[in-house]
Amino acid sequence: MLRTVLPMSKSLSPALSSTLNGSCQAIAPQRIIRAEQSLSQCADLIQPYGQRPLVVGGEHSLAVLQPYLTEVSGLELSVAHYGDDCSEASLKTLGGAVTRHQADVIVGVGGGKALDAAKLLAHRHHCPVITIPTSAATCAAWTALSNVYSDAGAFQYDVGLPRCPDLLILDYEVIQTAPQRTLMAGIGDALAKWYEASVSSGHSQETLTIAAVQQARVLRDILLQKSATAIAQPGGDEWRQVVDATVLMAGVVGGLGGAQCRTVAAHAVHNGLTHLSPTRSSLHGEKVAYGILVQLRLEELLQNNHLATQSRHQLLKFYREIGLPMTLADLGMEDVSLKHLQTAAQVACQPDSDIHHLPFTVTPEQLMAAMVSTTSPMADSGVIPGSPSAEVCP
Ligand SMILES: [Zn+2]
Repeated sequence: MLRTVLPMSKSLSPALSSTLNGSCQAIAPQRIIRAEQSLSQCADLIQPYGQRPLVVGGEHSLAVLQPYLTEVSGLELSVAHYGDDCSEASLKTLGGAVTRHQADVIVGVGGGKALDAAKLLAHRHHCPVITIPTSAATCAAWTALSNVYSDAGAFQYDVGLPRCPDLLILDYEVIQTAPQRTLMAGIGDALAKWYEASVSSGHSQETLTIAAVQQARVLRDILLQKSATAIAQPGGDEWRQVVDATVLMAGVVGGLGGAQCRTVAAHAVHNGLTHLSPTRSSLHGEKVAYGILVQLRLEELLQNNHLATQSRHQLLKFYREIGLPMTLADLGMEDVSLKHLQTAAQVACQPDSDIHHLPFTVTPEQLMAAMVSTTSPMADSGVIPGSPSAEVCP
């Protein structure tokens, strides 16, 4: 029985949030429902949070959810399209829809951008928010964070939210209807948790940060072990475990780590790439997956870090196996000019960029060198083929 009546939670007031300061951390959604066909119960699940839901999503996702909501009595439902991106312009349009409908709960349905828009909209209008992911491409259904893009798809900034969603509904049947590519992207995005958290927070003495970094390592191991089978057998046990890893466990790492567990170069590279014109030819997690290789390459080139070389080659083998992008060409950016590549590198190296959480300084020129050499062989990385350290890697 899925139905539970919950007291409606309220956002912390800004004054209280600032009084609590460092001790205020949003770790997890208040409630998570995960099951086959959980969407068939979604109207009952939404009702405790409000009677006038505004459902925010993309065209495809809204079509998926609509049949589950049409026959429900007691809910005054309205639907709003978020547009191409979670941008200030689309948030303004959605804000108008909230006011017109007098919405008392926001339901986000779709991928990362739809869910980010729904979460930020709910925060700004002081409504509870329910997230319904329709793919396993990100952990946006879990996190207290929204990324804001320009209308052209260029990353602008992220907004930390005071709390995670009130309810997360994960329906495995719905996730299974998403293109296989979205799961692969989710695997890339979730993998980055380890490569970024271990660099930004690997030396932390804070209990919850240590827990987050260790969970990120376990998450990486689960993905390396189970992804190939999961992709080969959609709907199977491993597939479900990998979906849980990308949608839920990646969110756990972000929640436990909080602001102490920052993204580093992989996401900075992603942010830079979104400023190039074919940005929508690849998904968030695909760019991040490529960004992990760039980050490791930077550690090789600027620190002569042989462990990074080994990690990169371990990942290249894994990427080949499951089909994650290894180069700019794999991201559909083979025709990017030097000038545009420079723009992406400059954006990624801006003073407030997370790339500066690396323990060394990176210039746009050094970043460009790393971006075009992600598949560089072992011999080029200062590791002599045939040496004991080279044999560790495939
Ligand atoms: Zn991400």
